[in-house]
Amino acid sequence: MVLVKKVRKRGGASGLGSPSRATSSLRPVLVEKDPPCAHACPCGTDVRGFLKALSGGGRRGLSEAQAIEEAFYIIADRNPLPAVCGRLCPHHCETGCTREAYDGGVSVNQVERAIAEAAINASWPLRPIDDGVDDGAEPEAVTVIGAGAAGLSAAYQLARRGYEVTLVDPRDEAGGELRYGIEADRLPRAVLDAEVDRILALGVTFVGGADLTEFESAEPRVLKTKIYEGGAPVATGAIAAATHFGRHAAGLLDAEIRRAAAPEPPRLQPVAKERIILDHFARVERGATTGATWPPAEAVHEAQRCLQCGSCVECDNCWKYCPDQAVIRPLEPGQPYRFKLEFCQGCSKCAEQCPTSYIEMR
Ligand code: SF4
Ligand code: SF4
Ligand code: SF4
Repeated sequence: MVLVKKVRKRGGASGLGSPSRATSSLRPVLVEKDPPCAHACPCGTDVRGFLKALSGGGRRGLSEAQAIEEAFYIIADRNPLPAVCGRLCPHHCETGCTREAYDGGVSVNQVERAIAEAAINASWPLRPIDDGVDDGAEPEAVTVIGAGAAGLSAAYQLARRGYEVTLVDPRDEAGGELRYGIEADRLPRAVLDAEVDRILALGVTFVGGADLTEFESAEPRVLKTKIYEGGAPVATGAIAAATHFGRHAAGLLDAEIRRAAAPEPPRLQPVAKERIILDHFARVERGATTGATWPPAEAVHEAQRCLQCGSCVECDNCWKYCPDQAVIRPLEPGQPYRFKLEFCQGCSKCAEQCPTSYIEMR
């Protein structure tokens, strides 16, 4: 589709010099914010990011499988157990979703599950982090005690940073309460095994049936996580938080060993939901949850319902509404919009008409 904007002369009847024309010393700035979904996710998953990768893949020339792969690696950066989460997490992200009060929150959980199971079916491996730094040092050995969600997450984050990780647990198999506390009809063991094996394939050595006291005293670096004792009710809602705990603990240990900066950047300011212009978006029914994993096309369709709160949805509103031709549209999809501030009169139209609250006047 080719959009043509009627160009008015700057300074004409509706431009500079018009008596009704609002001007100010403020200027527009693109300010990315934390969307409500990510803010509500205990694991800190980049929900908006993976939904955008999936929904916009076609426009960027990607096949459906390539878009799913890209979305998978965005999820996996923070969560190595997305198929498990997709089945067990009570999806706080959806309750917090801006779309909830409009036509139903985006079914993030179903989309995540579809992506995660596609990743299992395609045997996509977890990836090490390549930070481009090779200091020639031997990788340090780290023992992670407890092979539940937190321990698996910590082992993954350490292994992908080059540590030699030994994961120990008093139980024979890895998985903690995911394996020993949750019925197989809620979490099929094939799904759990696939995600556990994928972590071990990064080079993590698992020692089951272990006497923990041996490891606690013998190893120089030990990271303890919760051990499943059995008998207590299993809080499946805690899986996302446990995954976050493991990642955070691993990050702190890595920072301590390498004397590096804090592992995760501070969160962005949250989006004010009342600033999202819901009427800008057509109502689209939320995908039906049937209990089965969605096929990829359904996941893509649902991802397209995401409003990209606090980020650019490439709607062109800023460009269309600017009376001074001070907004430059990108030539390629996915590139940022820019401002020609020397033309800008500070009228705020672009910020007022940005449906996702991405533009601030400062
Ligand atoms: S619409 Fe998208 S970005 Fe906004 S809260 Fe919902 S899932 Fe997150
Ligand atoms: S709409 Fe145009 S003139 Fe008005 S603040 Fe935005 S960029 Fe500046
Ligand atoms: S108005 Fe639309 S195109 Fe412009 S910054 Fe906001 S979301 Fe992006």
